[in-house]
Amino acid sequence: MSWARQIHLKSPDDLQIMREAGRINASVLATVKALLKPGVSTADLNAAAEEVLKKHGCVSPFKGYGHPPFPTSITVSVNQELVHGIPSRKRKLKTGDIVSIDCGTILDGFVADSAFTAGVGDISPEAETLLKVTEGALNAAIEKMRVGNRTGDVSAAIQKHVENHGFYVTREYTGHGVGRQMHEGPQVPNYGRAGTGMPLKAGMTIAIEPMVLVGTAETKVLSDKWTVESADGSLTAHFEHSVAVTEGEPLLLTVQ
Ligand code: MG
Ligand code: MG
Repeated sequence: MSWARQIHLKSPDDLQIMREAGRINASVLATVKALLKPGVSTADLNAAAEEVLKKHGCVSPFKGYGHPPFPTSITVSVNQELVHGIPSRKRKLKTGDIVSIDCGTILDGFVADSAFTAGVGDISPEAETLLKVTEGALNAAIEKMRVGNRTGDVSAAIQKHVENHGFYVTREYTGHGVGRQMHEGPQVPNYGRAGTGMPLKAGMTIAIEPMVLVGTAETKVLSDKWTVESADGSLTAHFEHSVAVTEGEPLLLTVQ
């Protein structure tokens, strides 16, 4: 992938803008999370997200992205849908669903990218565990975002955490550098070997995004050309933060 070779280190000024973009993105996600109730359509979630973006004078890099152009500002992926689900008026949430929301925000030319998965009402114990493990994998990966480590340390932390709990990581969709473009280098897969890959440097900003499946690592793309599902129909989850490497602690960009 050509974008994976373009690595742009961010200045403190750049990081300040990205932090603000991340704050707005987090408020979009918080708004959507509060709406996850039975009977709400996935298009309603997109409409609410667009309202928050508009209030801040921002747009999402998702809208119009790719081929065919992605039609909405957030992706909504329910249960076996792993990523890139297209919001629809016909798709109504039900009690027990788990819903992955991914959103991007562009502010002053910089992108923030973040995602979470949450349940609608009571969810199964398996679903609870899946959410906990996937978020845990993200936290383990963030902890590795330090000068002196390499991208393989981040990838390995995700894979190890997920596989230790008996789940699977996707091989096909990866974390990525983020900045003036939604996708920059370095590419950060959800699997890998510690001590390999690109050395992390202060000023690198990476969207880390474990995508986890209960029963298989295999996925398929639906006929809408976007929605990615687990090949076996098992549950999936996705958590993502945009994170900056600094001389000290990892800096979480996509929190309020
Ligand atoms: Mg994302
Ligand atoms: Mg991303």
